[in-house]
Amino acid sequence: MSRKLAKSTVERFRKRLEEERDHLEEQIAEYEREIEEARMTEASSDRSPDPGNAEASSVKLEYAKELSIEQNTIDLLGKVRHALLRIEAGSYGICESCGKAIPVQRLEALPYATLCVECASRSN
Ligand SMILES: [Zn+2]
Repeated sequence: MSRKLAKSTVERFRKRLEEERDHLEEQIAEYEREIEEARMTEASSDRSPDPGNAEASSVKLEYAKELSIEQNTIDLLGKVRHALLRIEAGSYGICESCGKAIPVQRLEALPYATLCVECASRSN
């Protein structure tokens, strides 16, 4: 039995990954807008420094939260894009570390996975 995924299976994952990529790109654009707004609010509150300004510090907290969520989204988008490149290269579904086939069940759960479970747990 061939280790390679069937072409139709790869196409199915490609579709899921492309949808995921579009969705993540939209989300990132949305975060960028929100962060820009928070930045502007912060800049305007800086002009009248008030250490007891609870509103300004909550804006800063929101801003930090948005940034970390955005970073996670960017990381995920990077993985999705990477998986799409692997599809282009014809190496999708093969572990990047040990070269073994990644079980389809794992890809169903994590279509952007490029490591098998063993290698992924070793690298963490
Ligand atoms: Zn592996």
